[in-house]
Amino acid sequence: MNTYGRYDLVIDHAHGSIVYDKDGKEYIDCVAGIAVNNIGHTHKKMTENLSKQLEKMIHVSNLYYTEEQATFAKRLVELSPHDKVFFANSGAGANEGAIKLARKYTGKGEIISTLKSFHGRTLATITATGQPKYQKGFEPLPAGFKHVEYNNIEQMKEAITEDTAAILVEPIQGESGVRVPDDDYLPSLRKLCDEKGILLIFDEVQTGYGRTGKMFASELTQTVPDITTCAKAIAGGLPMGAVLAKKEIADAFKPGSHATTFGGSPFVSCAGNTVLDIYEEEDLVNKSHENGLYFMEKLEALKENHDCIVEVRGHGLMVGVELNYECGDLVAKAQEKGVLINVANGTVMRFVPPLIITREELDKVVEVIDEILP
Ligand code: PLP
Repeated sequence: MNTYGRYDLVIDHAHGSIVYDKDGKEYIDCVAGIAVNNIGHTHKKMTENLSKQLEKMIHVSNLYYTEEQATFAKRLVELSPHDKVFFANSGAGANEGAIKLARKYTGKGEIISTLKSFHGRTLATITATGQPKYQKGFEPLPAGFKHVEYNNIEQMKEAITEDTAAILVEPIQGESGVRVPDDDYLPSLRKLCDEKGILLIFDEVQTGYGRTGKMFASELTQTVPDITTCAKAIAGGLPMGAVLAKKEIADAFKPGSHATTFGGSPFVSCAGNTVLDIYEEEDLVNKSHENGLYFMEKLEALKENHDCIVEVRGHGLMVGVELNYECGDLVAKAQEKGVLINVANGTVMRFVPPLIITREELDKVVEVIDEILP
């Protein structure tokens, strides 16, 4: 169906941080399937492990145990501040699960999220998303959601009522242009939730999995949420989402409370385990941190020749460059010169390359940005 405004490009194959079109032209991939391909494309280890898994089994349903799923679940909770995981198939699916869990655990209905957020495209998650353009035409929307300004703790305090179950926020807002909150915002939300006895949910669908130079962006401010959702990068490009929670909260779900046919199949779990092997072997979380600093410094230096740059911001390899004009045309200009980027919120060039990207490739990206900026 006609749901995407697509760029004028047919991608034929891909390897590492490079994608190739039908004519063999190369593009450095700073979109990475929208912050998904953290281990790069067609990683040898992934191809080998998934080939073996294809011959072993793909899917058996969650009526049975599989070693692949149990192993991945254990590894994932050990990396997080949580004890239990539910496997979904997407970021929206993970957020749906988190909203349901928060309501079931607290017995309350209201979810407070933030303006300009993005949480997915199901009915509950477009309602949690603080952008009317995603909701228009899909009414009636589910009840029990309200929005306050991001990075505004006072508004959040005022919004809480007797019926509030949870606050749902992205640690850094992605779709609305890599908006990084003040350092004390997330810790203040934690404090507020503790005082009021409500849950704190971090949507780490985009920020999680090393994207910000930490495994989870919550670690940037040492804020421990009650529930974390992730998706995008966790199975290396196969569809998978996860709801992570502390045991006491997770225990609100009983057999039959929540389910999905495909969640955590042995095939996607094999991919999940392989992604974590590659993260360990190639030290990808640290690489994201170090190369992110390197990249942002180089972008920052472009300010000297380009007055249109308002701000370079981000953490790790989640980087936004805000310009003082609507810059959608830069996508085609960068593509022409062999770099894929996208533009968020009209004025922000967004870079979310594979975490395996090299400094030489980042240098080339900066060179192209320098050439195309006015
Ligand atoms: N939450 C955040 C923060 C996202 O960035 C996205 C997708 O961009 C989603 C949720 C939705 O994820 P999905 O498209 O996998 O449903």
